Parts: sequence; structure tokens; C-alpha cells
Amino acid sequence: MNASEETLPKNDIVLLGAGHTNAHIIRMWRMKALSETRLTCVSNLTTATYSGMVAGTLAGQYHASRNEIDLVRLCAACNVRFIHAQATGLDSDNNLLLLDNRPPLKFDALSIGIGSQPQTLSAEDIGLTIKPMQTFLPRLSAKLQELASLKKDRPLRIAIVGGGTAGVELAFCLPKFIQRQFGKLGPVELHLIEKGSQILSDMPPRAQILAQHELARQKVHLKRNCTIKSARSDCVEFENQETLPVDLLIWATSATALKLHSPINLPKDERGFLLTRNTLQSVGNDSVFAVGDAGTVENQKLAKAGVYAVRQGAILWKNLRNYLLGVPLKKWRPQKTFLTLINSGDSRAIATYGQFSTHARWCWHLKNWIDSRFIDKYQYYPDPSKMQHRHKQVRNHGNKPMPCGGCGCKVSASVLADCLSKIKNPTAEQVLLGIQPPDDAALVKYGSGDAVAATTDFFTAFTEDPYLLGRITALNALNDLYVKGAHPTAALAMAILPPGSQSQQINILDNLLAGAAEEFRDLNVPIVGGHTIEGPKLTFGFTLLGDAVAETVMQKTTPSPTDCLILTKPLGIGVLLAAHMRAACKSNWWETLRDTMLSSNLTAAQSAKRLGATAATDVSGFGLAGHLHEMLVTQNLSADIVLESIPQLPGVQELLSQGIESTLAPHNRESFGRNLKSKTKALDPATAILFDPQTSGGLLITINKHKAEDLLTALAPGAAIIGKVKKSDGNRPVLQLSHSC
Ligand SMILES: Cc1cc2nc3c(=O)[nH]c(=O)nc-3n(C[C@H](O)[C@H](O)[C@H](O)COP(=O)(O)OP(=O)(O)OC[C@H]3O[C@@H](n4cnc5c(N)ncnc54)[C@H](O)[C@@H]3O)c2cc1C
Repeated sequence: MNASEETLPKNDIVLLGAGHTNAHIIRMWRMKALSETRLTCVSNLTTATYSGMVAGTLAGQYHASRNEIDLVRLCAACNVRFIHAQATGLDSDNNLLLLDNRPPLKFDALSIGIGSQPQTLSAEDIGLTIKPMQTFLPRLSAKLQELASLKKDRPLRIAIVGGGTAGVELAFCLPKFIQRQFGKLGPVELHLIEKGSQILSDMPPRAQILAQHELARQKVHLKRNCTIKSARSDCVEFENQETLPVDLLIWATSATALKLHSPINLPKDERGFLLTRNTLQSVGNDSVFAVGDAGTVENQKLAKAGVYAVRQGAILWKNLRNYLLGVPLKKWRPQKTFLTLINSGDSRAIATYGQFSTHARWCWHLKNWIDSRFIDKYQYYPDPSKMQHRHKQVRNHGNKPMPCGGCGCKVSASVLADCLSKIKNPTAEQVLLGIQPPDDAALVKYGSGDAVAATTDFFTAFTEDPYLLGRITALNALNDLYVKGAHPTAALAMAILPPGSQSQQINILDNLLAGAAEEFRDLNVPIVGGHTIEGPKLTFGFTLLGDAVAETVMQKTTPSPTDCLILTKPLGIGVLLAAHMRAACKSNWWETLRDTMLSSNLTAAQSAKRLGATAATDVSGFGLAGHLHEMLVTQNLSADIVLESIPQLPGVQELLSQGIESTLAPHNRESFGRNLKSKTKALDPATAILFDPQTSGGLLITINKHKAEDLLTALAPGAAIIGKVKKSDGNRPVLQLSHSC
């Protein structure tokens, strides 16, 4: 078998949550992936936070991105499948992880590392919880913004609940954040509330005293032996009947099990955490591991702490492999003594090791060195295609870049044009729209005088998440019918599945079809058939049929001179997909990219039709330049385009200026670049966007200039007027590019 071909894996390891332990497995995968095994990371958020640097970020010692692990990039760099989903439970008998709004995920080994949450009074608690850590800073900023708008002529009252490491560090560092970001809030009155008689109760007395002195020095009001009974938005009441007026309450209390723990039908400890053996395997299912805060090793009374979670990484790595290989597992022995470093926010830290404690500047430097070394390992996102290792997808392309998936896997436009021109079609009266000139969907007259709209679209996978692939593929195929103003009636699926076990093939096809069916369901479009073959690369697509009324159909090649050109979605999908393959697509860019591909063009097409658009097409593989050329060429029209008005996805210009683009873009440039008239070169990032292939991209619509604003108002944000159509001076279409000023 050609080694560039894909095969489905024999085993599936699934990581649920990518906290301090599971993240280690992702990193190790880059170095020593297990053969015939796929590693999948399921996370409800696209980033993970390193808790050791949260306080430093508040104190302004680090930029917010410094404590953030970008899971999209880390997984891409390590050849780990990333699934952005919310887990809802576990079918432990069938080894299925249940996910919200999508089919369950089968696993041979699962590691649950979903962390914990601070203990609060009830679900409706007032205030902010320190977890999820990923969203703490934005939530805090939003709350402070709200308080700033209600500015009172007295100090802002903030109470942090919980006198453990997290609460104490927060008390030291939070005021610096407020001063820096919200100076206008004026003075802050900060309280630290602890229900026990001592803060830092797990630490030696000297550390407690040092922390108390520092709290006093920083004028933090320490309230010990105070258990909160109830909380309102402006006040908390303690069990001793005392009250404390507060504007903001922050919960940094001891760890409790997440809600998700309850539907997991495996044995738990008295606090609801999953009970494990010292191999980190659940006592109720050998194939399920529970790590970090999420698991409790039976007969061990340990505080929930990141230091244990980090150390478990190495054992989990060995044990996941050993479990699948059927060899004995290693025992995890928690460290008896470890170094604790509490950031006091003033370039010092309190260090504790055994009974030794001190508060000094060198301790902060040591902490900074340890934390930086840790996070550096997780903020390293090398291009997987440049790595010399055994991952199957990245070999065998020689010096050529790996071809892109999605619409980027099309053969080049010139090849297609050449082949289509050679077809000797009979002149068939019933064909209203066919391949001469090429259009988005065929239109064939039948019976009643109405028409059948038909279109076909398929491509190689551009994501390893088959459910997401199914959804986007369906939406992409629908574009061709929408743009004709046709009403979709039926779908036929085409799938090429890599060789593998029957169960793996079923799993992948289930996900593909379920994703597509989700998009078709509301449209009442049944998948009525299809064809599935085994082949070298996962490929998926649809033939769609639709009803169209021939007289009202929107055509592609009928724009009028002086019409405005409207693009309904931002460009850059091909650039970002190419970047994702190189582990260069940041998680926030990836989220916008995915949401853009998942947004339907139905309303845009309906609005265009209703408002009398003169022509419309779907921007896909040949990029804006190619599809616009197809619109203009029949009537020998040209267009003026204002480059700055072309909407683009976040990150695209940055990536283009690094030279990252889809493998189809050079072919598009070759085919359509000569049509450009511009002072800017075709390779310039500002112009390069015109050749970017789109997968589930937007529609390009021409409409009379007096109706353009109405259409724009009817379209989703992100749509824009990008230029206008004009008569050609010569004998071919020219895209005249200009800058807005
Ligand atoms: C401010 C602060 C400072 C701290 N300082 C220290 C310290 O100095 N030393 C120390 O030892 N400990 C410290 N801790 C405690 C430490 O953070 C935790 O013990 C540690 O984070 C536990 O790691 P974990 O991997 O179990 O969970 P986490 O790091 O919390 O990771 C869990 C992951 O699971 C994901 N997840 C949650 N629910 C789901 C779901 N339903 N589906 C999919 N994914 C999900 C989350 O998004 C998260 O990324 C601190 C905590 C805080 C808040």
C-alpha cells in the first residue's frame, strides 16, 4: 500500500478535557505516537489554562496569552484529533463517551481529566467562580466594567471566598489587575474569607504567618472562621449572623466535582470524584482513567492540586500504552513533599518546602523559571509536516506541500476548463443550464415546465472531526442550489472511507451522515441514497436535487454594468485551513473559521432573489477572482474592486504575510491572475486573498446599485459591498483593484 494512503486506526484513545495531566499525553503523542492508534482530545473549550500563571497574569507579570494552551494548535502540531464538544455522560458498558448534540464517541481507552469547580452555595450563586479558568479573566473584566458604570462614591468592595493557595494568590494579585485595567473604579476594599481558623491550612505555620503578614501589608481584610450562609448581589451573610456588604464575590473555594461527574455511571468518592486504583484506572472500568482533580485514588487523602495532576502525566502516558498493549500497568505514587510557590504580586513569592518557608524576591524568580519552562512546552506548535516522524499524513509528498482538503483539493481551473471544452455534448433543448457556460447547478426542464436543479460537490476531509465535516459538506453542497433560488428536495451522499475495521468505518460514516442530516433536517431534505467506497483518503460529498422555477432562477452570468458586487461571507477559509494543517491556526481564528463555514447562505440567497439580484454565484474553490471571472466572462464585463472592502476572516492577512496559503491558490493565481489590474502584486497579501479557495464560503451577488444597501441590510454581519460591475474596455474581463484611499 502507498504509505500516503490513510487507514483507520485499530485503537482509539480519547482524552476528555485537556488539563494538566491530559495535555501531557497530547505532547507525548508528537514524540512517540502509538502505532495503529488514534488519539482524540475532546474539550468544551478550545484553550486550556495553566493555573500556575493565572495570578501572575492578574498582577500584570504576564500577558493573558502566556498562561493559555491553544488546544487547536497543540493538537494539530501533535497529530491529535481535536473535537470541540461538551461531554454529557458515559456509556461505560459500551465504552462510549456521550456528547451534546452529536453521536457518541467510541473509545478503547478514555482518560477523564475535566478538573473540578469551586464549592459554592447553590447553582444560582451570586458572583464569579475562578473556574473555568479559561473564561475567568473575561468574566471578571465584564463584571468590573459593569461595576465601573455604576460607580459609587465609596471604595469598591470585593470578597474572595477561600483561603487556600488560589484564594490567597488571587488576593495578592487582583488589586493590581483592577488598578491597571479599571483605575477609574478608585480604591478597592478587598476581603479574604476563610471558613477555617487558618488560611493555607495544608501548609506549615510559618507559611501561614508569612501570608498573613503580606495580606496585612497589602491591606487585605482577612476574615477567618467565617462560613457563608447566603449571598445576595450586594451582601453576604455568615453562619454567625454577621453580614458583609459586597459589590463582587469571587469563589476560590475547595474543589468539588463538576456536574458532569453525576451522569458518569462509575464508582465515586464521597465528594463525587471518580474513584480510581493507583494505576489511575477507574475501579469500575479498566479502560477508563480519571486524572488530576477529576479522580481520587482510593485510600489516599490528598488535596486537589495541580502538582499532583502534572506528575500524573508521566504515569498516565505509560499506563494508556500498557493498557492497550496488555502489559502490567505502573502505580502512581504521589510525591510526599513538593515545592509550593505563592505569587504575592510584588515580584516576590512565598516558597514552602516541607517545614521550610520564606518570602523573597528570588522565590518569584524561581517560580517564574519553573512556570515558564512548563508553559513553553505547551506553547510550542511546530508545523507537523516539517517533523521527521512516523505520522502517516505528513509523509510521501516529497518537497511538495501537502495538498489541501475541502474545495482546495479540486483539480486546477485550467485542467477543468480544458477537459470540459472537449466534451461533445448534444444540443439538448431540455438543458437550461449545463456545463457550457459552467454554472453552480445544472437546470433540466421537465414535465410541468418547472425545472430540476441538480448539483454535486465532494472533497477530501479538511478536518478530522467527521461530524463537523458532515455538517459543512452539506452546507457547502446546498450553496449551489440556494444560489439558483432552487428549493432542495433530496440528497445523495458520496463517501470514500479509508480501509479499517467495520466498526471504525461505521463510526466514521455515522458521524458524517449525522452531521449532514442535522443540516438537512430543518430543510426537510432526505438523504435518499448514495454511494460509498473504500479508498485512500476520506472524501465526502453530496449530489443534491432541487425544485426550481425556470423563469425566476438566479443565473450566474447575467450581471449588468454599474451593478454593485456583494459578498455574503468573509474570505480566508482556504488560508486558515492551510494554516490549521501547519498548526498555525489559532484557536480563536479556528472558532470563527468553523462558525463561518457552518453559517448557511439560505437567507442570503432568498434576500437576493426577493430584492431582484441580477446574478449570483457561490464562491468556492477558484476563489473570488475565479468565480467573479466566471460571472463576467460571458458578457465580457469587468469589475472595480476596492481591496479594503473585501471582508476577511481574522488572522488571514497575518497568515498570508507569512506565506501561508492553500495549495490551490497558486493554480488560481495562474488561471485568473492575468485578469487583475492593480498596483499591488498578485502575491501581495492584500491581493492574494482573491485567489483563496473557499469551502462553504459566501455568495457573490450582483444587484442594481439602488437596491444594494437594502440587500446589505438583509444580510448577516460580515457581508459587504466590495465593488461594482462595469463594461470592459478590451476583449476580456478585467478586475481593476483599488485601495479605498
Ligand atoms: C488561581 C489558581 C491557582 C492555583 N495554583 C495552584 C498551585 O500553585 N499549585 C497547585 O498544585 N495547584 C494550584 N491550583 C489548583 C490547580 O489548578 C488544579 O488542581 C489543577 O488545575 C487540576 O488540573 P486538572 O488537569 O485536573 O484540571 P484543569 O486544569 O481544571 O483542566 C480540566 C479541563 O477539562 C475541561 N473540561 C471541563 N469540563 C469539560 C467537559 N464537560 N467536556 C470537556 N472538557 C471539559 C476544562 O475546560 C479544562 O481545560 C490553582 C488553582 C487556581 C484556580
